[in-house]
Amino acid sequence: MNQHMRPEPIPFIDIAAQRRRIGKAIDEAVARVLDHCQFINGPEVTALEKALADYSGAKHVVTCASGTDALLMVLMAKNVGPGDAVLCPSFTFCATGEAVALAGATPVFVDVDEATFNIDVNSLKRGIATAKARGLKPVGVIPVDLFGQSADHDAVAAVAKAEGLFVLDDAAQGFGASFKGRKLGTFGLATATSFFPAKPLGCFGDGGAIFTDDDELANTLRSIRVHGQGSDKYDNVRLGLTGRLDTMQAAVLIEKLKIFDDEIAARNVVADRYARGLGNLVTVPRLAAGCTSVWAQYTIRLPKGTDRDAFAAALKAQGIPTAIYYTRSMHQQTAYRSFPVADGGLPVSERLSEDVISLPMHAYLDEAAQQRVIEAVRGALSS
Ligand SMILES: *Cc1c(COP(=O)(O)O)cnc(C)c1O
Repeated sequence: MNQHMRPEPIPFIDIAAQRRRIGKAIDEAVARVLDHCQFINGPEVTALEKALADYSGAKHVVTCASGTDALLMVLMAKNVGPGDAVLCPSFTFCATGEAVALAGATPVFVDVDEATFNIDVNSLKRGIATAKARGLKPVGVIPVDLFGQSADHDAVAAVAKAEGLFVLDDAAQGFGASFKGRKLGTFGLATATSFFPAKPLGCFGDGGAIFTDDDELANTLRSIRVHGQGSDKYDNVRLGLTGRLDTMQAAVLIEKLKIFDDEIAARNVVADRYARGLGNLVTVPRLAAGCTSVWAQYTIRLPKGTDRDAFAAALKAQGIPTAIYYTRSMHQQTAYRSFPVADGGLPVSERLSEDVISLPMHAYLDEAAQQRVIEAVRGALSS
């Protein structure tokens, strides 16, 4: 085939476009760090924590080395361990349940809602009963704001309160979104997020943060972040991690946070165009009442009987990348198969794993490129 006939590939996530916009500011910010040489706990780390607290409305922000560490550190701070059950959705990135297992506790997987992909509170209730029936002590729940959309934090909080569970929100994909007008980072005991480059607010490596209003928890997290240090540097008072965010990444994030709201608005424009262009062909994602999304992914469901591999191949031939989040839910993965699932099973998670596919989504996807995606989807479904 003639090379010139091949359409230009569209990037799935366009980090380069953002670089063209704020590359100079970021280069200067990184150069300042290279000059002052405080690569660990430099002034940018404190400045970023302050900026993130202002942005989210959370009282304390503790930055850390990754989103996974953010989850794990909260579980460590709560002394979660063997015999404890922490409930989480199965249809999520593996880090959600992994952090629970790393803490030595048992993740109990629950189902998600078919329309929002977020935790189903009825399944959550069943999962709590399942955990108790197995002799485990339910201590916490980790709702996930999947693909960027806020979970129903009122519904989760009601169940958590009735059962005496703490809520640790996994906002690795949803940071920047809100629920009933309140930003994520302010729900439950604490919120974890990730700054992995492909997340809506990403840095140039690994990074994460924890948000909480709880003074004592914030202090404990700051200790865990540095090997469990106490007030005497050489008397460590608990087990901890090398859990810090680099100063360089903080410098990058300070610049990116300045344009984050603008990028979220642009992602919402892209999502609206997809919904208009594809709504009559496939199941497009819907926002629940009171929820906003930062569209970490734009995930559609293909009509029954569609060959998903053939669909992805047809788009790829047009230069359009796709990705599948997630081909297996956590309870279907080798490392997690032996952990309990809520009574009644997880039929929605299993169905979603079979028919979801994610389309290119980023703040710099222009209308012409997006029209190509829409047309390719149309073509692939009609052939
Ligand atoms: C990315 C992600 C994480 C983990 O973040 P890392 O920074 O990669 O450790 C946790 N939970 C969810 C839902 C994620 O998407």
